[in-house]
Amino acid sequence: MAEETMAGIALNFNSEMRPFNDAFTDGKLPCPHRSCRSETGKAFFQDLAQHYRIKHRELAFNKEKHTQEARRLFNLFHGNETKQYLARVFSKRSLQRDKYIRYTVTTKYEACLVFEVMAKDTKEAAKLAGVVLMHFGQLKSYGEGTKPSIVEVLSQDLHVKFNLWTSKKTLNLSLDLTGDNIMPINQHDINIDDMTGKKSVDILRSVFHYDVFRGKQEEAIDSICQGQNTLLIMPTGGGKSLCYAVPALMEQKLVVVVFPLLALLFDQFERMKSKGLNVGFLMKDMDEMDRQSVIHKLHSNPPEYNLLFLTPETVLSPSVFDLLSKLSS
Ligand SMILES: [Zn+2]
Repeated sequence: MAEETMAGIALNFNSEMRPFNDAFTDGKLPCPHRSCRSETGKAFFQDLAQHYRIKHRELAFNKEKHTQEARRLFNLFHGNETKQYLARVFSKRSLQRDKYIRYTVTTKYEACLVFEVMAKDTKEAAKLAGVVLMHFGQLKSYGEGTKPSIVEVLSQDLHVKFNLWTSKKTLNLSLDLTGDNIMPINQHDINIDDMTGKKSVDILRSVFHYDVFRGKQEEAIDSICQGQNTLLIMPTGGGKSLCYAVPALMEQKLVVVVFPLLALLFDQFERMKSKGLNVGFLMKDMDEMDRQSVIHKLHSNPPEYNLLFLTPETVLSPSVFDLLSKLSS
């Protein structure tokens, strides 16, 4: 079985004919001329000018105009091809209900306003929608003044909004899309409808994929959300991280977490990011540009991060201590 990846996601699907995607990878385009339309999907050209010289000798090739027409035609077919391909992936995934969740994804683009996705989590669902948008030619590259494409991921009791764009470096037409580099996800908004049961349980299920809280988790979360100082002592692997991550998502406020060990911090950083949470960290000896970028994001309102991870030394450093006091006032 061929393992294919899209946006860094292994799809485990048999490879099959996807002529537009092959052309996309090779940087080829179909001929936009009416007389060649029946060939669209079969014939692609690296050099359209050469094709015009041979096939449409009577016409002057207008590079800008004809390439634009070819691109528009190509995107429409390529986007639809990807959509159909993913639909088959999702039908295969729907047999594995323990691994994948059904989400409804909406975009602002008319050819894919609403579609059903089977994904591991909301972030993966958004990325897969991003692949479709990109192949439709609807994803802009990240830059000043460019508005990202908005993708909303919904399940029964969850509504997550993502901003998607391609990054400058990976704007080349390649199939081997590698995760975050191509589609940074920003402004992770989680709005949960109060009507459906208990908010903390809804988040536990839809973001973390657990059915029920364990031990003292729920009691601790309730206590934290009531604004009480809470001391909870738990063994390793007892599920401490949920006790700060769930309140962060419920309250849409920045939660500061102090880790005694850097290895632990990075481990949790990866884990929370994989769940779609926006996490920042500050530590000693970090690159000044990175530090400034984190501090800048901390000042946005509402905060751009769900979680801020710190080490004990950084919390006690005067600049960070000062920053945290300002943020909490
Ligand atoms: Zn032609």
